[in-house]
Amino acid sequence: MAKNTYPGCAHCPTRVCENRGEKADSRQPSLDKVPAFCPMKLMPEAYSAAMNEYDKSAVKEFARLASVQEFQCYERRPDGLRTKLPRMEEVIQFARKCGYKRLGLAFCGGLAYEAGLVTEILENNGFEVVSVQCKTGAVPKERIGIKPDEKIAGPEAWETMCNPIVQAMIINWSKVDMAIMLGLCIGHDTLFIKYCDVPLTVLAVKDRVLGHNPLAALYTSGTYYNRLKNKIE
Ligand code: SF4
Repeated sequence: MAKNTYPGCAHCPTRVCENRGEKADSRQPSLDKVPAFCPMKLMPEAYSAAMNEYDKSAVKEFARLASVQEFQCYERRPDGLRTKLPRMEEVIQFARKCGYKRLGLAFCGGLAYEAGLVTEILENNGFEVVSVQCKTGAVPKERIGIKPDEKIAGPEAWETMCNPIVQAMIINWSKVDMAIMLGLCIGHDTLFIKYCDVPLTVLAVKDRVLGHNPLAALYTSGTYYNRLKNKIE
């Protein structure tokens, strides 16, 4: 359970902020029912600071388009809400909405096949695609201090380091409208995000074992992956 000194939405039993079932013209929900670790209670200043950001016209428009995209992913039917769009189509639709023409694809060499498919799909949809794979630069791993026994293919093998910083720089310098991350390794993705200066979205994250679907381990954490839930004493 979250301590009451820092935000812990993931532990929240109420999710009062969703105000589900209320009419559009209802009042904001009362904070009386939120838990003590609710960020609305702990950090009220963050909300006014954030709303000030949304008041900047470009930010407001971007946020509006993102919410329109979210809306278009559902269909209201007599029997309830249905979802409609896979992420790939969402990326295309959102990029179109934003008026983007040139997209940057930062991909992992392990997903070169998928990068080819993504590029073909985006190009067929009228986008120009700048793509850069992680091993670009051909810099050996020794350059960042990797020892021979830390190389995947063995101590004697040449191994090119993943170079997410140069991926970001090439994408920045290519003046793309938006970057798309495809399967970068954990940590390498962190560096790419740190150095990427253009709007960025993620098509897929890497999970070598689960077909790039890390949530599969959560969905099976009651059975095959129950080791994930073991408490460290
Ligand atoms: S913001 Fe508050 S009410 Fe909403 S999920 Fe977080 S803790 Fe719960």
